[in-house]
Amino acid sequence: MPVIGVLALQGDVREHLRALGGAGARAVPVRRPAEIEAVDGLVIPGGESTTLWRLAMAFDLLEPLRKLIGGGMPAFGSCAGMIMLADRLVDGVRGQQTLGGIDMTVRRNAFGRQVDSFERNIELSGEPFHAVFIRAPWVEQVGPDVSVLGTDAGRIVAVRQGVLLATAFHPELTPDRRIHELFVSMVKGTS
Ligand code: GLN
Repeated sequence: MPVIGVLALQGDVREHLRALGGAGARAVPVRRPAEIEAVDGLVIPGGESTTLWRLAMAFDLLEPLRKLIGGGMPAFGSCAGMIMLADRLVDGVRGQQTLGGIDMTVRRNAFGRQVDSFERNIELSGEPFHAVFIRAPWVEQVGPDVSVLGTDAGRIVAVRQGVLLATAFHPELTPDRRIHELFVSMVKGTS
């Protein structure tokens, strides 16, 4: 059974731990570089990306995380976690940095200008998926190596690049485990 770490700086860590358990992984909260190096894959939870960034800086985690992700560690980010995995960010706060990894431009709080949070069925790999959005980003542009997995009214809300996966919504908050199962199979190398 793969061991997947959930980055426990801020955000809905517990929900991801539970979802990963339900998707066939052993899930552990991780915070220190040595703990993160020891797991087979990493989840960056939803929360607030500016806080994740500031805490990652305060704990000297930005560079170790960039190195691990750049070096091929499988990672999945939901919402704020998607922002952290974006190579390019629009509408961040001044100086806000991401970890990067996925060749995409993400707009922070993109739906928020219309409505703060909502739930609806999106299209995930051709099938409906009930998705919860909370002050969510969307993906404005992707590079050639990125596959678009999910869309909502023409907006890109789920992507994959190699062993990196990101969703603008929060699959950890709903019982459908398809996204976490996909990530577990990516960590196992079977998908
Ligand atoms: N708006 C938040 C941010 O900028 C993301 C919200 C979320 O993760 N639910 O990070």
